[in-house]
Amino acid sequence: MSFEIFNLHPSIMEGVRAQGYTEPTPIQVQAIPPIMQGRDIIGLAQTGTGKTAAFVLPVLDRLLKLQRGRIGAAVISPTRELAEQTCEAVDALAKYTNLKSISIYGGVGMEQQVRRLRSGVDIIVACPGRLLDHIWKSTIDLSFLEMLVIDEADRMFDMGFLPDIRSILRCLVRPRQTMLFSATMPPDIRRLVQEALRIPVTVQIGHSAPVDSVSHSIYPVKQHLKTKLLTAVLRSFETDSVLVFTRTKHRADRVALQLKRTGFRATALHGDLAQNRRQAALDGFRDGSVKILVATDIAARGIDVLSISHVINLDMPENVDAYTHRIGRTGRIDQKGDALTFVTAADAAVVREIEEVLKAPLERRKLQGFDYNAAAPEIPADAPRRPAGGGRTGQGQRSGGARRR
Ligand code: AMP
Repeated sequence: MSFEIFNLHPSIMEGVRAQGYTEPTPIQVQAIPPIMQGRDIIGLAQTGTGKTAAFVLPVLDRLLKLQRGRIGAAVISPTRELAEQTCEAVDALAKYTNLKSISIYGGVGMEQQVRRLRSGVDIIVACPGRLLDHIWKSTIDLSFLEMLVIDEADRMFDMGFLPDIRSILRCLVRPRQTMLFSATMPPDIRRLVQEALRIPVTVQIGHSAPVDSVSHSIYPVKQHLKTKLLTAVLRSFETDSVLVFTRTKHRADRVALQLKRTGFRATALHGDLAQNRRQAALDGFRDGSVKILVATDIAARGIDVLSISHVINLDMPENVDAYTHRIGRTGRIDQKGDALTFVTAADAAVVREIEEVLKAPLERRKLQGFDYNAAAPEIPADAPRRPAGGGRTGQGQRSGGARRR
């Protein structure tokens, strides 16, 4: 099937061709026609399925029919990284139109955003907190908004953003077309759907199971040997870009430092880094000067590097949804990926949960030649440090916490 069937504006088709897309992905086939008809939609799809273009293309098509220079469409993203990437996708696909977009998020000055907003934009990609700041200060005019996309709604919920989303919805006056994308549908998101969407069409790609172009394996290992095993794995596997997940920000820093000391081109990515350092880490990972990114869950949200060959869970994700999100970074369209998870005895329950969703046992592997019985140092070098109170990493979470299933 080709993109021609959607009857998109020729200038948008030029953008599609320039991106090298020849065939629409399944989520695009399902979502583009109802969006173009003006229907509200729920898109149940994870990253890596082409979901961004599934909403960006019909949104751009409609914007071309509206008066320019007024915000006709808004995408709400849970993180700065995802907002940046979505904005890049918009710019790439809108390259041959004269539509203007900006990303709006906190951690950078408001002034520059205000100036750009005043100069006239058609589409914004925003994180909820900063968008509300602009609404409350009347530095943004959403009175012409016709399309609203709530992207990665489940992650928004995890990060405690649902109250902000509801506040934003209350500030929008016009009847609008609303699109909500989520990899999973916890009850709070269902409630939001009932409040915000009108007779939505649901489009769904698979369940919350991880993409099947990924091979999954687990490496049982003692906690104190994890970083050693990571180094040994990185030395013996042929890898391209590697994304390593840790449970805490502190641990991401320490592991990245240890890898650097051992000669790897590694860096850490987490929410405590200043915006310019986060951007530098992401840019380095994208252009290949950084080969190994050591990240926490929320910081890694929205990372879109097509050459990620391996995702390594140095620490077990909290549950199967978090696993799905992490693994969604590899095995993207037309590519194969490997997901390695280091597990200790304490992770048995999550392993079982993942196996249930995958409907197959996870392959248990051992790295040849690795000394699995090496003694623990007196103070384990890589003991995970949980935050006081035993909670999660706390990457900017305001509420929510563990996902309810
Ligand atoms: P997403 O699920 O939106 O994060 O997209 C994942 C990746 O797929 C991005 O790098 C997109 O540029 C790419 N992509 C989206 N649509 C297509 C398509 N129809 N053909 C090939 N690649 C695509």
